[in-house]
Amino acid sequence: MSYWDKEKECMPREQLRELQLRRLKETVYRVYAFVPAYKAKMDQAGIRPDDIKCLEDLEKLPFTTKQDLRDNYPFGLFALPMSEVVRIHSSSGTTGKPTVVGYSKKDIDTWSELMARALTSAGATRYSVIQNAYGYGLFTGGLGVHYGAEKIGASVIPSSGGNTKRQIMLMQDFGTTELTCTPSYVLFMYEIMQEMGIEPADLKLKAGIFGAEPWSENMRREIENKLKIKAYDIYGLSEVIGPGVAIECACKQGLHIAEDHFIAEVIDPLSEKVLDDGSQGELVITTISKEALPIIRYRTRDLTALDRNICDCGRTHTRMRKVLGRSDDMVIIRGVNVFPSMVESVLLNIPGVEPHYLLIVERKGNLDQLEVQVEVSEKLFSDEVRKLEELGAVIGKEMESALGINAKIRLVEPKSIQRSEGKAKRVIDRRNI
Ligand SMILES: [Zn+2]
Repeated sequence: MSYWDKEKECMPREQLRELQLRRLKETVYRVYAFVPAYKAKMDQAGIRPDDIKCLEDLEKLPFTTKQDLRDNYPFGLFALPMSEVVRIHSSSGTTGKPTVVGYSKKDIDTWSELMARALTSAGATRYSVIQNAYGYGLFTGGLGVHYGAEKIGASVIPSSGGNTKRQIMLMQDFGTTELTCTPSYVLFMYEIMQEMGIEPADLKLKAGIFGAEPWSENMRREIENKLKIKAYDIYGLSEVIGPGVAIECACKQGLHIAEDHFIAEVIDPLSEKVLDDGSQGELVITTISKEALPIIRYRTRDLTALDRNICDCGRTHTRMRKVLGRSDDMVIIRGVNVFPSMVESVLLNIPGVEPHYLLIVERKGNLDQLEVQVEVSEKLFSDEVRKLEELGAVIGKEMESALGINAKIRLVEPKSIQRSEGKAKRVIDRRNI
């Protein structure tokens, strides 16, 4: 087992809790003093910074949502003057105003440390050649990974997203050992590799650190088998810091949350009550070391469960279950909650089916209908019609038993569903509701 900072990552829990409480108190004092929006919310809830006496008191504090970031656009939630802010990132803002996040010099150092831990946890060292195919720019993925990779002393290839043939050429010529990108993009790269006649054995690739979108265990198997690498899940979000909030270790039994910098809770998204460890709900994160944009009880919309048992890897930090969906991605069809990752899980258990799919929801009359477009393999597509019909029926049956509703299955030609070089689009909702 290798650690970047063993002292912090394996800190005894009692000591960790003491550190968390001290940092939480400091954070609460700071936002109350310097961020009017937090002061107003706390005053309204009747909470003073002095009321936070133990970690359990965190529950008393109001939540922060994406809407709060939008309401205070662009810099209203910053706790430092702009002269102390050295970096600004922002979401794409496809729906309304983007969300803006800022970093002090120390925040950038913290983030680099967290990414150094994450990359080390996935086996990277100073001898690694890390190809970073997350987009560079306002999105936190690119620069977040970049600084962490430099911190461990690896050789970084800042290839950014896109230009897939060049990515593969770089991988081959520069001897890339670790790849960082979204899980859907690595599968697309694999297809292009096949077209170019390049086999995994022609590359030095050992591992991939994949994140920025939910992906299933079946998708992990698919990536590991096709590319002959180890695939690690990484978690993060710009509102909290960016990638590096949590990372899988070699045990792959959940992602370790960097608890010396964040406090994680899981709540029932409807009642907003904190749930017991092991119960699935929405992840809520409080930052306890950030300077420019401290965030209290941020509702991530990501669904997971927590496990506080000490991991076989020796790390004491709480693990969060692999995120299988966001409450945002969820579509409700005839009263049933459907996540793209559930569909993905079903599909990848059926031979001849490719991990490329699209959910289309429509309303016909008063009835919601789900169509699942599924790509089949080249070999199967050129086969007789009867075989395709049989496959369609099998998928339909499996889908119905997994989702609890029936879906129309449409088998489509290989490579006909649009590929993504970033986050994959899995759902088209055509209902006007
Ligand atoms: Zn572990």
